[in-house]
Amino acid sequence: YIALTFDDGPHKTVTDRVLNTLKEYDAKATFFMLGNQVDYYPSLVQRVAKEGHEIGNHGYSHKYHSKLDFGANTSEIQKTEDKIKAITGKKTSLFAPPYGDFNEITLRSAKSLGYKTIMWSKDTIDWRRDGVDKIINRVLNNPENGDLVLMHPTQDTVKALHVIIDKLTELGYEITTVSKAIE
Ligand code: ZN
Repeated sequence: YIALTFDDGPHKTVTDRVLNTLKEYDAKATFFMLGNQVDYYPSLVQRVAKEGHEIGNHGYSHKYHSKLDFGANTSEIQKTEDKIKAITGKKTSLFAPPYGDFNEITLRSAKSLGYKTIMWSKDTIDWRRDGVDKIINRVLNNPENGDLVLMHPTQDTVKALHVIIDKLTELGYEITTVSKAIE
């Protein structure tokens, strides 16, 4: 199993295209959503859920969680959970801290709300916008069972997605959700 994760969405234009591609391959993914984006695009949240993907929590406003006290950690996570739950009817239970930044307080806060804190094993660094090939290579360089691949909603990421899924499938991997990949 390899899990593709899409952070920072839902995104106005890219999320739909990502979903179309995943559908084409009957692949599943995990979308770590930002609460303030959920506010803007509730219908995209609905589509992600309806098509069987996993929704995770990425906090509300993309803060450095190691710089927040327990209460602020908790409110960032809880606020986003509430917004997503209002749309999908489901509680989120995976938390991906923005920038991969967290400390003991973050972990304690997430755990108290029923979350597992998730980090990636492969970073596409797609936000750097240095081209489709680089994104592809970063994923396909030595893929391993259980890899969690960090991606963002960029145009290049969508372009890279076909090649990535084709190749990983060819290597015998199932493209799936984080929950399934870490089982
Ligand atoms: Zn992020």
